[in-house]
Amino acid sequence: MSGSKCVRLTGALVKQVLDSVDSVLFDCDGVIWRGDQAVPGAAQVINLLKEKGKKVFFVTNNSSKTRKMYVDKMTTLGFNVKEEEVFGTAYCSAMYLKTVCKLQGKVYLIGSNAMQQELEAVGIQPTGVGPDHISGKQGDWANVPLDPEVKAVVVGFDEHFSYMKLNRAMQYLSREGCLFVGTNRDTRLPLEGGKAVPGTGCLLQAVETAAQHRAQTVGKPNNFMFDCVASQFGVDPDRCLMVGDRLDTDIMLGSNCGLKTLLTLTGVSTVADAEDHQRSGSAERQGMVPDYYVESIADLLPALQG
Ligand code: PLP
Ligand code: CA
Repeated sequence: MSGSKCVRLTGALVKQVLDSVDSVLFDCDGVIWRGDQAVPGAAQVINLLKEKGKKVFFVTNNSSKTRKMYVDKMTTLGFNVKEEEVFGTAYCSAMYLKTVCKLQGKVYLIGSNAMQQELEAVGIQPTGVGPDHISGKQGDWANVPLDPEVKAVVVGFDEHFSYMKLNRAMQYLSREGCLFVGTNRDTRLPLEGGKAVPGTGCLLQAVETAAQHRAQTVGKPNNFMFDCVASQFGVDPDRCLMVGDRLDTDIMLGSNCGLKTLLTLTGVSTVADAEDHQRSGSAERQGMVPDYYVESIADLLPALQG
């Protein structure tokens, strides 16, 4: 393949790139759907890739759903998908704690019911899910009751995030040997019309600031997401394409793992952002320059239908 990067993927090049891979990893939000709506043509692209014998996987930093919940959502949107093909950060964080950390003990979880379910599915007991209201006086807060069996603090997306949870996490993390894991660092979740809401990265940074300690994160761009897929399905990085809408997470993950990378313009990042990285001369920022870009993954359809 030529040395040029950030090339528009069109015409005969689409088939050439698809023929050069056996597996395709898709980011979800901004790539195959936006919020609750499928990207037009996305389900057809994925179903056709599978019919042609490609292995297809879904890698999302969104920790608010279990694998089963993703399958339900995707089936409703017309995607042909199995639970084993979905790698969300709720599932991957549970796998990380079990296989990499070999955690013996409970987790203090700032996160969702979905994360609780994925942890329980690998035999890890979480505590802390749901609201944690303030009680007592400031002088007592450093002495909140803690569970002696908790050996890790895990931070994911939590709509009940509160001062008391932040405090409890800090108290656990001040204990000797307590692990500190975050699902991902996405700071903002984009919504329609240019709007956004705070992402898990904001919650994680609050806990890191309180604990004066940096968490290990599981989600993109950390290699673990790809390692998880590769270890279960024997994916060859040389023959794998990563498709995403964010340069700092999806494209960076692909670069970190030696995959071919495709930016789609239905989400967060633009070609101008990629070109800025390319021109910067910074070695680190080159990891955020995709090999190819498309307006939408629907641009892959003609090559698959032909
Ligand atoms: N985290 C949360 C809580 C989200 O709601 C989303 C998108 O909806 C994301 C992360 C980003 O997900 P993805 O990696 O699929 O773009
Ligand atoms: Ca995305």
